[in-house]
Amino acid sequence: MQATRRDFLKASTLGGVAATVLGFDLAPVYAQSKELKIARTTETRSTCPYCAVSCGVIIHTLGDKAKNVTAQVVHVEGDPDHPINRGTLCPKGASLYQDILNDRRLLKPEVRRPGSDHWEDISWEKAIDEIAHKVKKTRDDTFVETDDQGRTVNRCEGIGFNGGCTDTNEFNYLVVKTMRSLGVCYLENQARV
Ligand code: SF4
Repeated sequence: MQATRRDFLKASTLGGVAATVLGFDLAPVYAQSKELKIARTTETRSTCPYCAVSCGVIIHTLGDKAKNVTAQVVHVEGDPDHPINRGTLCPKGASLYQDILNDRRLLKPEVRRPGSDHWEDISWEKAIDEIAHKVKKTRDDTFVETDDQGRTVNRCEGIGFNGGCTDTNEFNYLVVKTMRSLGVCYLENQARV
C-alpha cells in the first residue's frame, strides 16, 4: 500500500494522541534531540539581516577554530534573551541557516561592465579603486553650488547611498559623515544594529 502525505500526517497526529493517552510525554525526547544538535557548539549572538524588526539570533558553530579547522554553522535560532523577539523568528529569519550555507552565496566582489551581459570577478583592491574614481568623477560632474535662486546649497545630486540592513550603527555613522562631506543628499540606512 502506498502511503500519502495525508496518511502520514494522520498517523503522526494519532501517534501523538496515543502517546498522550498512554501517558508518554514526548517533550523530553524533542528537547533532547535539540540538545544533541547543539551540544559542543559555540554560540554567537547576532541580528537577523532581513528586515527592520532586527530580531536577535544565536548562531551555533561547531569546530574550535584550531589550526586546519574551519568552524561550521550547524544551527541558527531565535535569541530567548533578546528584548525584541524573545526567541521567536518569522519564517524568513528561521531560514537564516540556509542563507549562511548556501553554495550560491557570493563571497567576493563582481562587476558587470556597461553594455555587458555577464558578471566578472574583480579583486577588492581594484573594486575599491574603481568605485573611488567613479565617485570622484560623478561628484565633479554633478556638484551643485547654488540653486536656481542663487542660494548656496553645495550638494551632490548625482550620488545616492543605500545602506544594508546588517550595517552597524558605527558603520552608518561613518557613512553619514563621509556622504555628507561629499554633499550627498540622497542617503538612507537602517541604523539599528
Ligand atoms: S526574523 Fe523576520 S521579523 Fe525578525 S528581523 Fe528577521 S525577517 Fe524581520
